[in-house]
Amino acid sequence: MTRILVTGGAGYIGSTATAILCDRGYEVVVFDDLSTGHSDSVDARATLAIGSLLDPDALRSAAAGCQAVIHFAGKSLVGESVEKPDLYRHVNIDGSQNLLDAMKIHGIDRLVFSSSAATYGQPLDNPITEESVATPTNPYGASKLSVDNLIAASGISAISLRYFNVAGSHQGSNGWLSERHDPETHLIPNVLKSSVENPLKIFGTDWETKDGTCIRDYVHVVDLIEAHILALKNLTPHQHQIINLGSGSGYSVREVISAAEKVLGRTVPAVESPRREGDPATLVASIKKAKSILNWQPERNLEAMISDTAKSQVR
Ligand code: UDP
Repeated sequence: MTRILVTGGAGYIGSTATAILCDRGYEVVVFDDLSTGHSDSVDARATLAIGSLLDPDALRSAAAGCQAVIHFAGKSLVGESVEKPDLYRHVNIDGSQNLLDAMKIHGIDRLVFSSSAATYGQPLDNPITEESVATPTNPYGASKLSVDNLIAASGISAISLRYFNVAGSHQGSNGWLSERHDPETHLIPNVLKSSVENPLKIFGTDWETKDGTCIRDYVHVVDLIEAHILALKNLTPHQHQIINLGSGSGYSVREVISAAEKVLGRTVPAVESPRREGDPATLVASIKKAKSILNWQPERNLEAMISDTAKSQVR
C-alpha cells in the first residue's frame, strides 16, 4: 500500500484529498500546524502529525516511511500576502524547501504540489496555458512560482497543479468538508451567505467583460482531487511538469449569482460595489494539458459546486 504524506491535510482542499485517498486505499499521514485547518476535518483513517513546515525535525519524522507527498500546506490569502510578504516568503518558500530536504533524506521522489493561477498575474492570454508568461502581481502568487522553480531545480519527479477557482464540497465519512475561512472572501460562500441585511458585494460592474463583472473559472474540489490522484500516477521520472486545473469555461459574478438563485430557489441580494484591488478582469484556464497528460476531465458543473457548498454550510 502506498503511504502518502499530505501536508495541509486539515484544510479545505487537503482534508478532501485525505478523505478520497483513504477511500481509495492509500495510507495517509496528514502534516498540518492547524493554523487555519481543523483537526475534526481529518479523516479518522488518516494519521495526524501536528507540526509546522518551518520545523525540519517534525517534517522529517512525519515523512518517514512515505513513498509520495502531496503538498497543500501554506499561507493562501492574497490580501494578507500583500500586508505580510515576509510571512509568505518564509512559510511558503522556506517551508517548501524544508519539505524537499526531508524528502531527500528519506529518498522520497514523488511530489504533487498545489500551485496557483496567481502565478500568472494579470494574464496576457485567455484561456491561460502553461506556456503563458508567469508574472505574479502579489507575494502569494510569487511564493507559489518560487516553489514551482525550487521543485524544478530539485530533480525529483513532480507535478505542480495550478488551480483556478476551487469551489464545491465533499461529504467525507465525518461530514461535509467545507470551506471555513474567517473572514470568508470567496465568491460562492459569500453568495450563499448573502441576505437582505448583508447583501453580497459585487466587486466592480465596469470591467471589460460581457456583463461588466469579473469572469473566473470554477472547478469542483472533488474533480480537483481526482486530478491529484491521476498526477501521482502519471509522474515522469526526474521531471517537473506544470498543469493547469480549471473547467476551461468562465462565469461572470452575475452568472454565478443567477446560477445560485436557480439552485436555491430564492433571490440572492446583491449590491454593486467598487472594484477589489488586484483583481484581473478575466481568468480562464486552458485545460488541454490536464486532459492529455492526466486524461482528466472535470465532471461537476457550477450548479453542483453551488449546491454542494450550500449543503456543506448547514452544520
Ligand atoms: N467577488 C465578489 N464579491 C465577493 C467575493 C468575490 O464580487 O464577495 C468576485 C471577485 O472580485 C472575483 C470573483 O468574485 O472577480 C471571484 O473571487 P474569489 O475571491 O472567490 O476568488 P479569486 O478569483 O479572487 O481567487
